[in-house]
Amino acid sequence: MIQVDTEEERKQILKRYRRLLRQAKPFLKPGDAKEIKKAFNVSLEAHKDMRRKSGEPYIYHPLEVALICVEEIGLGTTSIVSALLHDVVEDTDWELEDIERDFGHKVMTIIDGLTKISGVFDYGSSQQAENFRKMLLTLSDDVRVILIKLADRLNNMRTLQSMPRHKQLKIASETMYLYAPLAHRLGLYAIKSELEDLYLKYTDADTYQDIVNKIQQSRSLRNRFIRKFIQPIDEELDRQGFDYTIKGRPKSVYSIYSKMKKQGIPFDEVYDLFAVRIILNSDFENEKADCWQVYSIVTDFYQPNPDRLRDWISTPRSNGYESLHTTVMSNSGQWVEVQIRTKRMDEIAERGYAAHWKYKEKESKSPSGLDDWITQVRGLLESNEANAIEFMDDFRGNLFREEVFVFTPKGDLKVLPHGATALDFAFEIHTEVGASCIGAKVNQKLVPISHVLKNGDQVEILTSGKQKPNEDWLNIVVTSRAKAKIKDALREEKKSSILDGKEIVRRKLKQMKMTFNSETVEKLRAFYELKTANEFYYRVGRGIIDPTTIRSFKDFLEKQKKKQKSIQERVKDESTFTKEIKSVKGPDHDQLLIGEDMDVVDYILAKCCNPIPGDDVFGFVTVNEGIKIHRTSCPNAVELLSNHGNRVIKARWTSQKEIAFLAGLRIVGTDRVGLINDVTKVISNELKVNMRSITVDSDAGVFEGTIKLYVNSTSHLDKLIQDLEKVEGIFQVTRFD
Ligand code: MN
Repeated sequence: MIQVDTEEERKQILKRYRRLLRQAKPFLKPGDAKEIKKAFNVSLEAHKDMRRKSGEPYIYHPLEVALICVEEIGLGTTSIVSALLHDVVEDTDWELEDIERDFGHKVMTIIDGLTKISGVFDYGSSQQAENFRKMLLTLSDDVRVILIKLADRLNNMRTLQSMPRHKQLKIASETMYLYAPLAHRLGLYAIKSELEDLYLKYTDADTYQDIVNKIQQSRSLRNRFIRKFIQPIDEELDRQGFDYTIKGRPKSVYSIYSKMKKQGIPFDEVYDLFAVRIILNSDFENEKADCWQVYSIVTDFYQPNPDRLRDWISTPRSNGYESLHTTVMSNSGQWVEVQIRTKRMDEIAERGYAAHWKYKEKESKSPSGLDDWITQVRGLLESNEANAIEFMDDFRGNLFREEVFVFTPKGDLKVLPHGATALDFAFEIHTEVGASCIGAKVNQKLVPISHVLKNGDQVEILTSGKQKPNEDWLNIVVTSRAKAKIKDALREEKKSSILDGKEIVRRKLKQMKMTFNSETVEKLRAFYELKTANEFYYRVGRGIIDPTTIRSFKDFLEKQKKKQKSIQERVKDESTFTKEIKSVKGPDHDQLLIGEDMDVVDYILAKCCNPIPGDDVFGFVTVNEGIKIHRTSCPNAVELLSNHGNRVIKARWTSQKEIAFLAGLRIVGTDRVGLINDVTKVISNELKVNMRSITVDSDAGVFEGTIKLYVNSTSHLDKLIQDLEKVEGIFQVTRFD
């Protein structure tokens, strides 16, 4: 039994609550304190019987989250109220209607957003991607949802100690995968660094502790160095009457760790372990001039590296970051990064969006890169119909990239990710401009659409009404916007080619007095050796397949009919099939041992039937791809054997090696909340099964899903099918090829 001192706990709770009020006080408007008190009391009452994993009263958590919102992000009363209530709807009897009634519509929508994005995150599943997309969608409603979610995550990471190991790993990886990039993108550098450090702490404790120790050991040496380095600057700044502070701070554990890893060097060889930061107390009008004045002073004493000058004051980064960075050579021959910025810029750099927004209100002429970004994300989410996983990969790819600044012919600034091409730029201007882009003039010089843009380029796009997007374009662009637009165009294009092709095939078959039905089309598909009927239509529509060749299909069909008849009578099931192989290859013929012969013989598993160990199989010698292994029950087996019997070889499985094979399952059932989650749970509980993809369709309460996964053998797969059939709501699980 744990003894709980309730009196002491009550004191602790009140102490935390008072701290929150004290921090919020400077910006509270009349009535705000009352609202916060109300939210606190509701949360306290609702969570009264709950405890954190650490054993502490649950209310500590919402209180801490609210405190992070105020102290570390700079949010106001609405956010404090929402943070205090953020777990109430999810974990207690409180409903959204109750929140709306007592705290108003705004708080209700924020809590609603927070509850939605806290759904389950299952790795590699579309659920996770969908959740991510939902989370970004909330950006367009109210960015505070994301900020409070980040505060929630930060507190959970800070208290990760009391979680079981597997949960620690899951939460930490999720943080690294999603929340740290988001914090970065929103300009919350302090939170981003802390999340990364905590990630390292819980995933690689030894390395983390080692770096922490080394930072501490080198501390006094470093401080002495910094003191000496800043002394002449300090004196000159005083002489010129600047109001300023200088800080010399070590970089975060994680950034040192990634430097060591990336460059393959030990701790002692990381040269920029710290940065010197000069923060000026300047008026808004003098900011730029003052910062450059200080730059001039610094470089009077130390030689700058011309390649390392970053002017994010004249052109702030798209997340709102403003600062002047230079790297200079110290007297002892060590490079030192010096960051020069004003107090306002520093606050934006540390606290990101909220601070940016606050100043923007005040100055109203501050740059608005972040607002542009949010507008962009919103547009992308609303227009993008591609699948969620694809979208997420594209999007994450854009989170961390550096940016290039380029200009339109009229001198408008466009910010694109590093590596962006003329084609990206064209799509950035307008979808139509992108789709008809044939080239560009960069700084008056003619360049192809694949030309990679550099900082300061002035770009004029050349278009033609005859131009159309093609597959290759996807390799040319890097922005998710351009990718999504090209994919949309290709899909449209493909759709219309398929329709054209279908019409041509219909007419051709009519001329040949053959019926146009799925059976004939299926035979045509096989005749042209294509994977799907649509692929066949598409090729006809695009003119890749000459429609006149369909005539020879008729002759082929008649010949095949005769042959098949005789063989089909003999090959009725899998056992007679083996006999058939023997009659083709002779009784003593060596069979192919799948597994052992892996290194000697070049073979692959056929995609049409995806054989796995345990299946009855045979080998088929192909022209270009070596030997292909098919299941004897493969829909193509009869055809292969009847027409190319001399190319068939007997094969069986021998390997005890654990190789994973791709198999497909089709699941049908009645749709209900949590079904996907239950299905993925069964799969991930099964040892050695890895899911590759899952797609789900739900229509009028009927659920149909296809899952591709890696298994070791048929018995393994059978077990999984049995388990899946036990899931409530599912009434059929079948294997498909
Ligand atoms: Mn929470």
